Amino acid sequence: MFDTLSDRLSAVFTSLRAKGRLTDADIDKSTREIRVALLEADVALPVVKAFVQSVKHRARGAEVHQALNPAQQVVKIVNEELIGILGGETRRLQYAKNPPTVILLAGLQGAGKTTLAGKLALWLRKQGHAPLLVAADLQRPNAVQQLQVVGGRAEVEVFAPEPGSGVGDPVDVARRSIDFAQRQQHDIVIVDTAGRLGIDADMMAQAAAIRDAVNPDEILFVVDAMIGQDAVTTAQAFKDGVGFSGVVLTKLDGDARGGAALSVRHVTGEPIMFASSGEKLDDFDVFHPDRMASRILGMGDMLTLIEQAEQVFDAEQQQRMSEKMLGEGDFTLDDFLEQMVAVKKMGPISNVLGMLPGMNQMKGQLDNLDDKHFDRVAAVIRSMTPAERNDPKIINGSRRLRIANGSGTTVTDVNQLVERFFEARKMMRQMTSQMGFGGMRRGGS
Ligand code: GDP
Repeated sequence: MFDTLSDRLSAVFTSLRAKGRLTDADIDKSTREIRVALLEADVALPVVKAFVQSVKHRARGAEVHQALNPAQQVVKIVNEELIGILGGETRRLQYAKNPPTVILLAGLQGAGKTTLAGKLALWLRKQGHAPLLVAADLQRPNAVQQLQVVGGRAEVEVFAPEPGSGVGDPVDVARRSIDFAQRQQHDIVIVDTAGRLGIDADMMAQAAAIRDAVNPDEILFVVDAMIGQDAVTTAQAFKDGVGFSGVVLTKLDGDARGGAALSVRHVTGEPIMFASSGEKLDDFDVFHPDRMASRILGMGDMLTLIEQAEQVFDAEQQQRMSEKMLGEGDFTLDDFLEQMVAVKKMGPISNVLGMLPGMNQMKGQLDNLDDKHFDRVAAVIRSMTPAERNDPKIINGSRRLRIANGSGTTVTDVNQLVERFFEARKMMRQMTSQMGFGGMRRGGS
């Protein structure tokens, strides 16, 4: 669904990857590109504007995390803003204190209401509920029958006008279904209403009358994500005409541009609660804004790394390290080990390289640092006395032999490590002064 948008956004991030730091010009260029990408994906203009403004503001602000490179900083902000426009928290169904919980479905004809009724019923039944499906769409030929077929597949009971009883009154059917549900111990009632091909005053009035008759706990507005910009107009009309407490996006499996998904929440203020992504009854799930955002960004792994980097390199640790690297304290082998442990916590070294600012420059140092190697280095450092760790220069021939024996390594290993440490320290000092970490100290004091 979001392929083009994902591609466009990743191009934005890729172009930032080579940057050492994020300038205002970079931010302007990137946000312009993001704006175009969203508009092309059919996201409604007010949503695009709010989104871009917020990304820009945050990217310029001081909130950027020092452990992230520019591309990652922007990915992080875009991700969080996407989650925001998609609604932030996952919104769960609210059940009535006194069953049955009544769920009313509203939306245009063809939006996928009847299919959704079956999906929702199956999903609820699997969780141990006893839902009842109610056919209050008596307009469309075969609507009742279609609901019965869907109900059969979901193995849930369907409440519908008696065949041959003439055209029932949908409001009456809906009202009677609540009594029926109570008598038959159904704890959830899902009422399918009639839709029209376009927004229509009669349809709204009928849906509103059904609403008043059954006093629903949730009104779900069902909208086809493939209808593009129209989704916003339709949502607004249903919001005014019937009101709703949640949105269900259907046909997310389609290849349309998906702007509806990104606009509806912002425009109506109501949360997206479920997503439908196919014709089968189990092509259905609770809508999670964070998962959808990372799907759109197409970079689950990168987001995980960003999260880990933030956790591992907290601000305090960074400040301490940068001070040491600048020579205000001494960067010792203990610190070296601490950094390695921090880096290792983030996963295999190959994944981690390049995600830390300036780490690319250390690639040579870290390239052959596989896990076994890491354990050996750690063993060597741990076999040193505190004095040796603080000042490796004192490590002479006999100390080397003692350390090698103590750590089960060779004198060559010890030599290599000490050499590598000196090189790394030199490089870090260069890197630290280049990257302007000095600013952090001012901020921190
Ligand atoms: P209603 O008029 O709102 O009740 O819509 P229906 O439930 O009859 O669905 C209209 C059409 O869309 C049917 O052909 C469904 O099979 C199809 N449909 C519903 N949900 C989805 C979905 O998530 N993905 C796809 N690809 N088709 C769907």
